[in-house]
Amino acid sequence: MKKVALVFVLAVFVPSLVLAWLAVRSLRDQQFLLERQQSLLYQGVADGLVKDIVDMVGEDQRLFADKVSALLRNGDPLGTAKAFDDLLRREWPLAQVGFAVTLKGEILSPSPYGRPEARLFCADNTRFLANRESAEVYLNSKMIASNPNPQPPSGTGQDPNLDPAKRYSGKARNVLPQQAGGFAQKPGKDDDDKQLLVSKLAASEAEFRQLIGAESEGTLARFVDNKLSVFFWRRSPTDPQLVFGAQIDLHSLEQDLGALVRQVEPALRGEICTALLDDTGKPVAVSSPGFSANWKHPFVATEIGETLPHWEVAVYLLDPAKLARSADTLKLTLGLLIAVLLLAIGVGSWLIVTDLNRQLTLARQKTDFVGNVSHELKTPLTSIRMFSEILTEGRITDPEKQRSYLGIITAETARLTRLINNVLEIARLDRSEKQYNFERCDLVSVAREIVKTYRPQLEANGFSLRCELPDAPRQVRADRDALAQIIVNLLSNAEKYSDRRKEIEVRIDSKTTPLPCVELTIADRGMGVPPACTEKIFEKFYRAHDSLSSGIQGSGLGLTLARQLARAHGGDVTHSRRENGGSFFTLWLPSLREETQGGSDLFHEAKDPHH
Ligand code: ADP
Repeated sequence: MKKVALVFVLAVFVPSLVLAWLAVRSLRDQQFLLERQQSLLYQGVADGLVKDIVDMVGEDQRLFADKVSALLRNGDPLGTAKAFDDLLRREWPLAQVGFAVTLKGEILSPSPYGRPEARLFCADNTRFLANRESAEVYLNSKMIASNPNPQPPSGTGQDPNLDPAKRYSGKARNVLPQQAGGFAQKPGKDDDDKQLLVSKLAASEAEFRQLIGAESEGTLARFVDNKLSVFFWRRSPTDPQLVFGAQIDLHSLEQDLGALVRQVEPALRGEICTALLDDTGKPVAVSSPGFSANWKHPFVATEIGETLPHWEVAVYLLDPAKLARSADTLKLTLGLLIAVLLLAIGVGSWLIVTDLNRQLTLARQKTDFVGNVSHELKTPLTSIRMFSEILTEGRITDPEKQRSYLGIITAETARLTRLINNVLEIARLDRSEKQYNFERCDLVSVAREIVKTYRPQLEANGFSLRCELPDAPRQVRADRDALAQIIVNLLSNAEKYSDRRKEIEVRIDSKTTPLPCVELTIADRGMGVPPACTEKIFEKFYRAHDSLSSGIQGSGLGLTLARQLARAHGGDVTHSRRENGGSFFTLWLPSLREETQGGSDLFHEAKDPHH
């Protein structure tokens, strides 16, 4: 049994646990995967938008370069440079201020005494553009590569075939993602620090001349008093010492970019809101009007890059709880599957263990049975042999003793016959080969016959046998031999399991409820059946008083057979406790109705009522 339990634990229990553990792990991974898939998808949206924005700014810069070339074609370079602010703004509305500087540090345009925007520009930028002070700027001279027809200025060494992949420098920003019903982190006072901390941009610090180096054109962005200024610049194609530039009107640029941000794919329109955030983290354009969120905690975000430093495209979930809900549904479904699987394994294991136990008990009972039957066969055979040898040798001359010995031989032969009959009958029943010869018979006469046969033996063994049999017949539909076998088994049990009080009673009664039946009860004053075993004693091979402890031989088949035979007759054999010690064993059978008692047609058909 221990070995079986070990095999069971190793073959079923441990693998089930491992399986369950793996399933629970995969449950967690599934949730993570779902979140990851979503964030990858939306990161793609943000990256795509940033690329479009950078392309649009690149296109603007190309336009600016074209404007500069066109203006230079129309007049002398110096004259154009001096009037550049007015000329450019007239031609190109995106310019807030146009400027022209020489690399020696001379500011040709705008005039520091002109309109307010020009005055402010000069106040903020003159020292930097005139190379008198270093400034912290974000450079992006590679924007030129988006120009399909680059025109490198002579002597600059600019490579026109720059890697297109480097055209924009958008970078996914590490964000604290939105979560169901709130945010991963409550907005706190140090939020802004965190946002700055996760930016991947690096500023360069130098004078204007150093910053532009040998490049022919590019963008510059710098913060003056925490306010962002973006510049496009381009060298004069004829005079590399002369640089033309424009400070971009950010308000106009925002409007152009806003149109891009609002173009969300129709399939995603119900899922996400895209927003363009400026360097202070405020939205300058959102795709879903009226949507509001903690703007500092998008689901994913991508920085635009050096052109618009600390600006970013952010993606927000319109319904942040939806992701959690899908994850929960997935979790629930998989969880249920795992639970069903475990339940199936549990039930299966329980069934296997129960069946195994049953098989083991049966195997043990069969072994006991073989031992008991061998003993049961040997004991009567030994007595028969011994007494017949004594009688054959003629050593006993006393006729009384001879009769007694012959009586013993007869009784032992009967015991042998009973045992063999029981075993054979059980085998027949097991193979469903039992044939019944049903006929109308009188239970009283069958009982009387058996009592008559057994009385001498019982009285010889000190039993008092009381019979309360009615005078009138009690008709039942039965196989006579089967009836006799049931009664003999009950009577011999009453004899076997009686100890000091050797009193046996046989009684026959008629009952009308719940249905008309005849009851034959055999009562004894023996050792009784232990309360826990009152039903088990009808199981095959089961013995409540085993041979070892009680010294009473038996096969555990007598009651099984009696009950099976009785049930085949539509009746049963039952046990009940008797007051003041002993047992009642009752055989009840349906009685034949009076009006059918005379007829014989009831008995001519099937031999076995089960068929
Ligand atoms: P066995 O050959 O062991 O007598 P049975 O099927 O006839 O087999 O009986 C099953 C068990 O029921 C017996 O082993 C015994 O423990 C119990 N039993 C049967 N009849 C009686 C009785 N009259 N008094 C007490 N116990 C009984």
